[in-house]
Amino acid sequence: MSFSMIDFIEKKRDKGGHEPLEFHSLITGLMDKTIPSYQLAAWLMAVYFNGLDDNEIMALTQELAASGVTYKFPAEHSVVDKHSTGGVGDKTSLVLIPLAAACGASISKLSGPGLGFTGGTVDKLEAIPGMRMHLTNEEFLSQLGKIGCAISGHSPKLAPAEGIFYTLRDVTGTVPSNALITTSIVSKKLAGGASSFVFDVKCGNGAFEKDYDHARELAEMLVSTSKKLGKRCSALITDMEQPLGEWVGNAMEVYESIEVLNGRGPSDTRELCLSLCGQMLCLSKIAPTPEEGVQLAERAIADGSALEKFAQLISEQGGDANVTKRPLELLPKAEKVFKITAASDGFITKMDALSIGEALRALGGGRQKMDDKIDPAVAIRVNKKIGDKVSAGEAVLEIYYNSDEKLKLCMEYLSNCWETGEKQSKRTLIMGRVL
Ligand code: URA
Repeated sequence: MSFSMIDFIEKKRDKGGHEPLEFHSLITGLMDKTIPSYQLAAWLMAVYFNGLDDNEIMALTQELAASGVTYKFPAEHSVVDKHSTGGVGDKTSLVLIPLAAACGASISKLSGPGLGFTGGTVDKLEAIPGMRMHLTNEEFLSQLGKIGCAISGHSPKLAPAEGIFYTLRDVTGTVPSNALITTSIVSKKLAGGASSFVFDVKCGNGAFEKDYDHARELAEMLVSTSKKLGKRCSALITDMEQPLGEWVGNAMEVYESIEVLNGRGPSDTRELCLSLCGQMLCLSKIAPTPEEGVQLAERAIADGSALEKFAQLISEQGGDANVTKRPLELLPKAEKVFKITAASDGFITKMDALSIGEALRALGGGRQKMDDKIDPAVAIRVNKKIGDKVSAGEAVLEIYYNSDEKLKLCMEYLSNCWETGEKQSKRTLIMGRVL
């Protein structure tokens, strides 16, 4: 029977199920433009309300992945990838790529630019002078073979149908559907060709998943779909109620990553990077358990091999590797600083990640529109985190800015973004695991 898009929409509207072949017809129709975007939008809204079952998620994921080129790596490289659902101050990929590679893993990382208030790995690494973040397929594969790691922006040829879905979801209120997020993420990972993935599912007001139950459901869907598709994987559910680490802003997040690779840096960034690296090394069969993977990673930091691998990665991709030795001198940093100080003594009880992400975007560190140019030098330094003691007059936040006008816009987000109280309570960084 021939495929009818109207029947397809009505079926999902009425809570019906779809057959795998119908997804094939859907993606073929989108790619050859015989299905208009208004019909796809109607179906996406039906999915937003009525969901997709496991078989539907699998079939759609495979069709999206097969809509363009797919990377293939030689079997002897057990390539591992890592994906975060997006947060504020999340610079873990910058640390993890060289760290896991220094421990012997093969890391292929395909990343996107920042999305909404969340930062993007491509934008962060582009703050390094000379760094090329768009490698050809050949360059990517050859670098992976040579130094064990490569990072590149997504090629539009990879899972192009997912690009059509994502652009439409962004403007039709259909992004926050766990079924659609799963098909979106796993299809791109499948097309990227890695044999195992670690997912970092962010949870809190600075993430797309605001509460634990939703984040857990997404983590379970990501892991079960990937496993059914023959991949090894695991997920951590991690706190995004406050920014990760000390710095939010592209160049300064590179600086913080170098600090962590040097065995310093804020304890939360360090803890999360080590835990994710432990998972990656275990999935790559380099370490028998995640805990032993963490020990290997700690050793690679202590003996300098992780930082050395970062220098190699930067230099292979055209960047100035001296950044790893003299980051504050070579990375762009805004000259003007505005400090926000505490009015009284107490403990920090709130440090709103979403507002800080939006404030950085207002400063020019993120995009309002897809083609906006980013200012890599602007940053917000988070001196105090939830549970920290603060004294009257102490700087809680420092804003590094280049434009007085943008500082004014940024302050609109920061005026109520943190609170103090008399009682101390700390946040748990790693809230759950799905293996
Ligand atoms: N990240 C993705 O890649 N896709 C989504 O749908 C949401 C976050």
